[in-house]
Formats: sequence, C-alpha cells, structure tokens
Amino acid sequence: MPPPAYFLSGHAINPPVLKSRPAHHWDDYMYQRYHVETSPALEIAPFPNRTRVKVKKHGLATHLLKELIRYRGNREVALSRPCVYGVFSGPVGGFAPRNYCCVGCLRCTIEYPEMVQVYPEPEHRLLGDSYFTPEQVDTICYEARTGRIPVKGAGYRGPFGGEGWDGMWTDMSEIVRPTRDGIHGREFISTAVDIGQKPPFLSFNEQGAATGESARTFSIPIPVLFDVPPASVVSRKFLQIVAAAAQVAETFAVLPLGALNRFALQGRQIIPLVSREDADALTELRFTPLMIELDGWNEALFREIRRRFAESTICLRHDLGSSKELLKHYHSGIRVFHLVANYHGLGPDGRFVLDLIREAHGAFVEAGRRDEVTLLGSGGIIAAEHVPKAIICGLDAIALDTPLLAALQARFLGECLDRQGSRFRLPRRLTVNWGVQRVENLLASWRDQLLEVLGAAGLRDVRRFRGEIGRAMFQKDLEREAFSGIEGYGQ
Ligand code: SF4
Repeated sequence: MPPPAYFLSGHAINPPVLKSRPAHHWDDYMYQRYHVETSPALEIAPFPNRTRVKVKKHGLATHLLKELIRYRGNREVALSRPCVYGVFSGPVGGFAPRNYCCVGCLRCTIEYPEMVQVYPEPEHRLLGDSYFTPEQVDTICYEARTGRIPVKGAGYRGPFGGEGWDGMWTDMSEIVRPTRDGIHGREFISTAVDIGQKPPFLSFNEQGAATGESARTFSIPIPVLFDVPPASVVSRKFLQIVAAAAQVAETFAVLPLGALNRFALQGRQIIPLVSREDADALTELRFTPLMIELDGWNEALFREIRRRFAESTICLRHDLGSSKELLKHYHSGIRVFHLVANYHGLGPDGRFVLDLIREAHGAFVEAGRRDEVTLLGSGGIIAAEHVPKAIICGLDAIALDTPLLAALQARFLGECLDRQGSRFRLPRRLTVNWGVQRVENLLASWRDQLLEVLGAAGLRDVRRFRGEIGRAMFQKDLEREAFSGIEGYGQ
C-alpha cells in the first residue's frame, strides 16, 4: 500500500481536494492531463470592499415611491434600480446598501447624484503595501477565492506602460493565435519544467553506451514553487498548508530546516533550506529530499550536504545581481540557483528584478552554460502576468512568496520590503483545508493565465519561453527608438 496522501510525519492533513480512491485505481495507469482542482473558498476574515456607497435615505424613499407608481407596483423593476449588481437589493434595499456587491461602476452616482455617493473605502487602502497595492491584493483574493481568471467586462482602463513589470509587454501574434487554444485545451500546451543539472553534450563509447556526465533532473508540471515564508508567519499550521498545497499541485515548497525539525515535518515535496548555522541540524532531518537549498555559499556546508545526501540536488540561494559570483559558483559545482530579490523586487544595488534576471540569464548564455543550469527566482513576482514575463527574462521557474500570504488573507504590517524583517499577520480562523484550497485556486488561475499567454504567443511548451526575449517588448527600448534625437526626450 502506498503511504496515505497528506501525511507529514505523524500529522495527518485531511485531503481537501482529492477524493479517496482504491490504491491501484485504473486511472493511475492512464495518461492524465495536469489539472489543478478548484473549489470556491470564501474569505474567512473581513475583507474590505474597494468602495463605500452612501445613500440619502429621504431621497431614496421619494425615489422608490416614484418608481413604484411609474412601474405600477412592479417591485422587481423598482428594486433593481439604480444598481444592477444588487447593492440595493438587500432586505431593506438601499437603506442598508450591500457594499460588498459594489463593483465601482459609478452608474448610480452618475444617474442619481443628488441621492447616491460612492467613496473609496479607507480600510481597503490599508491592504498590502506600496509595492503590493490594494488592487493587486484584490486580484489575488479573487483568484484564491474562485480559481478563475479575473475578467473586467469594461476592458482594461489603465495606462499601457509604467515602472517595473509594467514596462515590459508580451508580444502576441494574431497569426498563430487561432491554432493554440489556451485554457480551452483543444491543443495541448505543456507547462512542465525541468529542475536539475544537464550535461553540455552527450558522449558515447564504441558500443554506443552513454558515458560521462548524465542529466540529473526532475520535472514539475507548473513553473511555480513556494518560497520560504517570513519568520513572522512560520507555524506548524502554515507549514502544513504550504507543504500540502505543494503536494496536491505536484510542486515543491522551500521550508527552513529548523522549522521542519521543530514541527517534525517531512515529505517529498519539501526542499529544506539549510544555512551555515543549521549544519548540526542536518543530522535530524528525517527524510532524503529531492533537492536541498543552501542559504548562501559555504564550501564546507556544500561538501557536507553532498556527502550526506549524495542523491539530492543542491540548489544555491543567492541574491540577484552578481553574475560573476554565479559563474564562480557554477565552477564550484552548483547547477541550480535560486535567485532572490527583496519583496519589492529590488536587488541589493537597488535595480529591479526584471533587469537582474536578464543579466543573470545573459551571463550564463555568454559563458555557454545556460542549458546546464536551472534558474529559479523570487521577489517582486506578485501577479499572474509576472510569471511569463520572468520566464521570458530568463528564469526556468519562479518561487512564490508574498502572493501566498495575500491568498491566505495575511495582513501586511507596514512596508514589507526586507525578507527578514517584514511582518505579516495571518487570520485567526486559518485552517489547513481552507488554506490549501486557496493556494490551489490561486495556482489554477495563474496556470490558466500562463496558458493564455503561451497560446497567444503560439508556443506549446513553457520551456521554449525561457529567455525568448523576441516575444517581448520593452517600453524603454521602444521610446528610445521612437524619440531619441527629439529635443526634450530623456530629460
Ligand atoms: S457604483 Fe455601480 S455597482 Fe456600486 S452601487 Fe453604484 S451602480 Fe451599483
């Protein structure tokens, strides 16, 4: 009998998504397309709406009376106005507006300015921080609640450019689009990526048998892992959520070794993060991980891990921004790099993660070593569209950090920039089943959006997207091409 799913060293987690089935079900022997199961998971803590609707009660009473007379007592028609989203359709109508139904279309206040006013909700402005804006928290919560792609019926009304990721656009081809059908799945698009080391070339002896270095990789069906959580949220429950969500989604979670030992957690889907201070704690690790992450370069620790866990891949966690050092570590034997920026996507020298990823990828390309290494990345990747953009810039996969916290309704306590010092508060009513479902929903939504981008770009494999800079346009480059030489440009 295989070990039961969701079993983490004696701490059984109820399966929230998978239905139980016989150990050797015939489905186990059939090809199955990768799919993340979604299910509605409503908020467990109060979640402020973007807007607050204020109604003048006397004006509303007069308005309703007029409407009832005009429509000869037809309550349904009278009560559907002035909001078709049901804000005024509660038991006492507009006398107690249902703010949570308001989508901020402003129709009511445009039609009846003397009676209705729509204000921004001050509580809503407190969500997230200056980088992870309230609108982005809104979007993540919608994705985690429903598992669906957020669609704004009125179309996109924001600017078509900006700072950071907004200065990069993916280039969609009208010609190839009809042949690749995104999430509808008539034509299969793979989102699987390989992690590990690959030889630069294959060599064979005279008998035709492979000789020399062989590839040591494992695949994940979605280019998203979960990054190590900040210290302020580390608890048994939180780690169980992340580990179980990684197991259900068939991906991996980076978790601190100290906490794994403290809470007696283990499982194939866990990547222990080992720092210099943890060297002694390695002996307490109760399982052989597929991959171990080294928190900063340390020659002695690297050798020790290699000796103890000869079967495990070793990944180096390293700040983004120093390509020379990355190449040095390549020559020391590292083939998997986890490149990290702070939560606002800034490297130690203040440059943005987009440029830093391009630089790291470019350094390995120039050295002729890019196909031998795997680049994972974290920091500043907080929206679904950032995933394909980061992959185009040169990552193989990303590791989620703050979006996981936003999906679990964690409050950002002040500016959350620094990985060590940032503080978050999780909701009191957090449960493992709810948390796993929220994370699964988020992943399903992000994967669907990745499929849409791949379909629109005419690619059927996300691995082909890595470093495919020809599929992107950069606002700075386009502006330079268009305006350089014109007086006033660049001032
Ligand atoms: S702004 Fe739009 S959604 Fe909100 S109450 Fe007015 S009509 Fe309804």
